[in-house]
Amino acid sequence: MNYSKQREIILDTLKSNVVHPTAEYIYEILKKEDSKISLATLYRNLNQLAENGLIKKIDGLESSSHYDHNTHAHYHFICDNCKKVFDVSCDIAPDIVKKIEDETGFIVSSHDIIIHGICKNCKN
Ligand SMILES: [Zn+2]
Ligand SMILES: [Zn+2]
Repeated sequence: MNYSKQREIILDTLKSNVVHPTAEYIYEILKKEDSKISLATLYRNLNQLAENGLIKKIDGLESSSHYDHNTHAHYHFICDNCKKVFDVSCDIAPDIVKKIEDETGFIVSSHDIIIHGICKNCKN
């Protein structure tokens, strides 16, 4: 399988998974398409896509990184029960950067907010 085909499958997999899959999850799907792909190749592809701004890498949620096709500014909600990662609109805290800069005098270059809790499915 060539690189562009691999990337197409990676992007499709990310877009069809609102759960923000890990590399390992994408790997399982890719393996069904092409049993020869290695996890190292997948990581290289994911990192390149992230560097080019086509996807977003979400670090620090669990042991392995999750990937996100939604590159617009948004926050994440992680369900402590099922471990799924959901998108949260940044409208919940529109002035956060300005407030931090005003209060601290720091310059914010980027920020990421992770909210923990129990998702709707697990609540029921
Ligand atoms: Zn849940
Ligand atoms: Zn997201």
